[in-house]
Amino acid sequence: MSENTDAQAVIQAEHDYLVQTYVRPDFVLQHGDGMTLYDDAGNAYTDWVAGIAVNALGYNDAGIAAAMQQQTATGIIHTSNLYFTEPQVRLAKALVEKSFADRVFFSNSGAEANEGALKFARRVAYDSGNANKVEVVTFSEAFHGRTLAALSLTPKEKYQKPYKPLMDHVVVAEFNNIESAKGAINANTAAVILEPIQGEGGINVATDAFLQVVRDLCDEHQAILIFDEIQCGMGRSGTLWAYEQTPVVPDIMTLAKPLAGGLPIGAILCTEEIASHLKPGDHGSTFAGGPLVTNVASYILERISQPQFLAHIKEVGDYLLERLEELNSPLIVDVRGRGLMCAMELKVEVAPVIKAGYENGLLMVNAGTNTIRFVPPLIAEKSDVDELVEKVTAILEVVHA
Ligand SMILES: *Cc1c(COP(=O)(O)O)cnc(C)c1O
Repeated sequence: MSENTDAQAVIQAEHDYLVQTYVRPDFVLQHGDGMTLYDDAGNAYTDWVAGIAVNALGYNDAGIAAAMQQQTATGIIHTSNLYFTEPQVRLAKALVEKSFADRVFFSNSGAEANEGALKFARRVAYDSGNANKVEVVTFSEAFHGRTLAALSLTPKEKYQKPYKPLMDHVVVAEFNNIESAKGAINANTAAVILEPIQGEGGINVATDAFLQVVRDLCDEHQAILIFDEIQCGMGRSGTLWAYEQTPVVPDIMTLAKPLAGGLPIGAILCTEEIASHLKPGDHGSTFAGGPLVTNVASYILERISQPQFLAHIKEVGDYLLERLEELNSPLIVDVRGRGLMCAMELKVEVAPVIKAGYENGLLMVNAGTNTIRFVPPLIAEKSDVDELVEKVTAILEVVHA
C-alpha cells in the first residue's frame, strides 16, 4: 500500500514540477532485469520498447556495470575534449574498423549527431566555392531529431509548426520515390539525409532501387549522402549497420540511441575526404565522447558486433515478423520490418492497444497514430516473441469487439 502511495506522489510531483511535454502511463518504473521492467507495486512488464531502441542489452547487464565501474575507479568521468583520454580513442578506432568510415566525431545525442553531420556537409560545400550549394534534401516521414536544424529535416507539421521559421534551403522529397529524388537532388544540394529504415515514421524500409538512385545522384552532383542509423544501426536490423543490407554505402553515418547501452552518446562517422575539410575549432562539444560513456560504448559495440549475437538478432527478428504475419485480426493492415525493428499497422488508433498492453504486462510504443513499433532489447528470445504474440492476439480481440 505504501508503495502505491509513493507512486502517486511521484506522479503528482511530475505534474507539478516538469514541463508537461510527455504523456506517461500511471506507474513508476523502479528496477529491471533482462527483458523485464518492474514498477514500484511489483508489476512486471516485458519491454518491447527498450527506452526507444536504446537499451540494446536490456536491464541489469553485468558487463555494463563492470565497464562503468572500471572507469569510475579511475576517478575520472569527464575531462572535456581539451585532453586525450584512452576510452574515447579506443571507441573511435573500433567504430572505424567495423564500418565504412575513416574517422569519428562524438556528440551527446542523435539530434546533435545529425546537426554535426549537417555542419560537416555544409563545410564541404562551402569549400567547393559554389555559394548556392546549401540545400539539404530530406524525405517524407523522416525523423532526425528535435533541435532546430534536425527539426527542419523532420517534415512533420505537428512538430515543426510552432517553431517556424526553421532552417532554410530544406527540400522535402518523397521516401522510396525515385522520380521525387531525381527532382530534388541537383548541383545546389549539399547533403541528402535519410534513414535506411525509418523508425518514428512507421518502420519503412528503403528499397534498394531507391537507395541506388539516391547514391548515384549524390555522386553526380557531389552531394554528401548521410545515413541516419540512430535507430536502425548497431545490430538492430540483423547486421551491425543497416546499410550493409543495401547496395550502397553512405559518406556519413550518424549513430546514437543504443551506442552506449543507455548512457547519452551520439557519433558522426565519416570518410577521410569529408574529415579533411574540418579544422581545429570547426566543431566541438563539452561533454561528448567522455571516458565513462565511451568505455561503456566500447563494451556494447564489442558485444553487439559478435557474429553470433548478430545472428541471434536476425533469427529472433525473422521469427517476430513471421509470428506477426500469422496474426489474422481484421484490424491489421500491414506488418513489416527487418531484424528486431518491426511494426504492425492497424486500421484503428493504437493508443488503446498500448494501454491494454500495460494492463497485461507489456510495454509497446507507437510510430504514428496507427502503427505499433517493436524495438525490444536485442537480447529478446523467441519465447518473448511467443508471449508478445499471445498477449497482442488477446488484446486485439478485445479491441475489435
Ligand atoms: C531518436 C532519433 C533521432 C534523435 O535522437 P535524440 O537522441 O532523441 O536526439 C534522430 N534520428 C533518428 C532516426 C532517431 O530515431
